[in-house]
Amino acid sequence: MAEFQDFQDKVALVTGGGSGIGEACAKDLAAHGAKVVVSDINLEAAQRVAEEIKAAGGEAAAVQHDTASPEDNQKAVQFAVDTFGALHLAVNNAGVGAGTEAAGDLKIEDWDRVIDINLNGVLYGMHYQLPEIEKAGGGAIVNMSSIHGSVATGLGASAYTAAKHGVVGLTKQAGVDYGPRGVRVNAVGPAYIDTPLLAGLPDEVHDALVTKHPIGRLGKAEEVAHLVTFLLSEKASFITGSYHLVDGGYTAP
Ligand code: NAD
Repeated sequence: MAEFQDFQDKVALVTGGGSGIGEACAKDLAAHGAKVVVSDINLEAAQRVAEEIKAAGGEAAAVQHDTASPEDNQKAVQFAVDTFGALHLAVNNAGVGAGTEAAGDLKIEDWDRVIDINLNGVLYGMHYQLPEIEKAGGGAIVNMSSIHGSVATGLGASAYTAAKHGVVGLTKQAGVDYGPRGVRVNAVGPAYIDTPLLAGLPDEVHDALVTKHPIGRLGKAEEVAHLVTFLLSEKASFITGSYHLVDGGYTAP
């Protein structure tokens, strides 16, 4: 039995919902009563998560969605409306890791790809989500930034850091613009979270990352999802246009 059922009759779209943080968000929202559209560029991954939600007694549907494509964002929102009748909540979570080259060394095509998915994808998502959420009488959005929405990485990663800072700016502006229109918009800034995104890291890099977190370990996807669920819920009714760290103390020193 869920602790609270804040999302009864609410429809949520979670992008990049087929793995890691997005999967945890989709499952937590469903556990709190939301009907969840799990979208991912990897349809099989989205379908697996939707099936697992249904097997646990929740409501979910899967759709293929490349967030770097404006058309796909429109289709994903339309899919939510066609499938569950409306859209109230969105988590713009899809994102990719990036190379660690400094600005003078990175390939311009790598910059373009990371900005397309990690920043443009968030704007494209909100562009189509916001009118539907307004039409449904209001709701909330959470955009997935990172600690690198406020600090640089120790490793280069200019595109990733720039994109995640951009997500924070976009979120603040949307929070201001949509405050009077009934849609709250916030960003979340996780530190390093144990997900498939980090799977390829050499052991020594992983161990060095752990030492950067005063709490003494990397985070879990569920620990990010709990914050996202809170920000989307009515319990966060006075919170908008802001950036919320979930970082085990990473940025505090
Ligand atoms: P992940 O690799 O486990 O999951 C990302 C999902 O996004 C995958 O299912 C992938 O198929 C999907 N995806 C990739 N490109 C896509 C696209 N163009 N369109 C739609 N879906 C796409 O990664 P994760 O760790 O769960 O990361 C999720 C988000 O959290 C990302 O935005 C990432 O930048 C952010 N984040 C992650 C960490 C971390 O340490 N893992 C920390 C801070 C922020």
